[in-house]
Amino acid sequence: MSHVKSMRCRECGKEYPVEPLNVCELCFGPLEISYDYDSIARTVTRRSIQDGPHTMWRYHDFLPVDAESAVDLGTGFTPLIHAKNLGRVLGLDKLYVKNDGVNPTFSFKDRPVTVTVTKALEFEFNTLACPSTGNLMGAVAAHGAKAGMKTLVFFPSDLERGKIVQASIYGPTMVAVDGSYDQVNRLCSELADNLPWAFVNINMRPFYAEGSKTLGYEAAEQLGWRAPDHCVAPAASGELHTKIWKGLEEMGDVGLIETPATRMHLAQAAGCSPIVEAFQSGNLQVRPVRPNTVAKSLAIGNPAAGPYSLQVLRQTDGTAVAVEEEEVAEGIKLLAETEGLFTEGAGGVVISGLKRLVEMGKIKHDEVTVAFITGNGLKTLEIVEDQVDLVRTAPDYGSLQAALDGR
Ligand SMILES: *Cc1c(COP(=O)(O)O)cnc(C)c1O
Ligand SMILES: [Zn+2]
Repeated sequence: MSHVKSMRCRECGKEYPVEPLNVCELCFGPLEISYDYDSIARTVTRRSIQDGPHTMWRYHDFLPVDAESAVDLGTGFTPLIHAKNLGRVLGLDKLYVKNDGVNPTFSFKDRPVTVTVTKALEFEFNTLACPSTGNLMGAVAAHGAKAGMKTLVFFPSDLERGKIVQASIYGPTMVAVDGSYDQVNRLCSELADNLPWAFVNINMRPFYAEGSKTLGYEAAEQLGWRAPDHCVAPAASGELHTKIWKGLEEMGDVGLIETPATRMHLAQAAGCSPIVEAFQSGNLQVRPVRPNTVAKSLAIGNPAAGPYSLQVLRQTDGTAVAVEEEEVAEGIKLLAETEGLFTEGAGGVVISGLKRLVEMGKIKHDEVTVAFITGNGLKTLEIVEDQVDLVRTAPDYGSLQAALDGR
């Protein structure tokens, strides 16, 4: 059963009962789930986790839902790969890649969504919805189908074709909005105030956010029950970056690993880097920007968890880096050519961001580093389409030889 104590405002600390509510009525701060960690520490051991399913549900004691009724597509416990070839190129001996592009809907978004949809059923919602930068709507549509819920997804109409086609196949109502993600999000926030729907990343956001902690738990377990020295995560709303850290901290708190001393770095693309800009200018708040980036999954100009992401950067001595737009495709290509893994724009940002961090001297060659690859490249073919280079030939030996000789 769940070890949840209450929901708690991150700003003023006011406690709330567990409800589909995301902002504090006193100060408008975001609400977060709080747990009874003594009770978790008494229940959970490395052994009990290892005996659990080979999915993120092996960490159900750290999640705010009843795992018995989980809406589960088999998400999580994705491979942590020792990236020796990429490490050689970058000069890192202990570089690991957490490949979350192999989740059921091909991005890490299955983690927050499986938790949220499970909770939405507990709360007896009939309708599921979300504003999305692309991957979220695929995850919501798939889990909505599995749960038998009415599902609507809202997205900026200029998203990548692969993401639109993928989400639509699960049968939700697809609402293409002529506007930016931030505009879609504002529209959905208005709807959430007026309709009895479970918006996974609005009124259900406290539950949504918790699912991403499992990336932290998995990385630590897969490293042999130790926190990495460095994490490099992509950031859009900043939620993922903060929750990987929350996951590592919690594992330390309940004694599953030593207290983590991980430096939590984040990467954004130059065309949408509001968190990086705030970090570099020393601001505690994030000034919104108008996104214009090929890494569309990271195109949030007004990041909800931006201030908390900045706190995590300061607290863990992490660095925020922005990579040039051309470096997004270069990062995708580098990971593919060295490790045989095809990631999307966000992964390209992470790999190029990692490269930058090494050049800046932030990561030393023998330090354990985990790069979080959060989505699959087949969804964003547009970014690398112009890299396709074919040897064209008629179907005979002579022509083939001539064509190859021409190289
Ligand atoms: C949504 C998304 C992110 C960013 O997540 P936030 O929690 O909003 O920062 C990163 N990578 C991929 C592939 C995504 O879809
Ligand atoms: Zn408050």
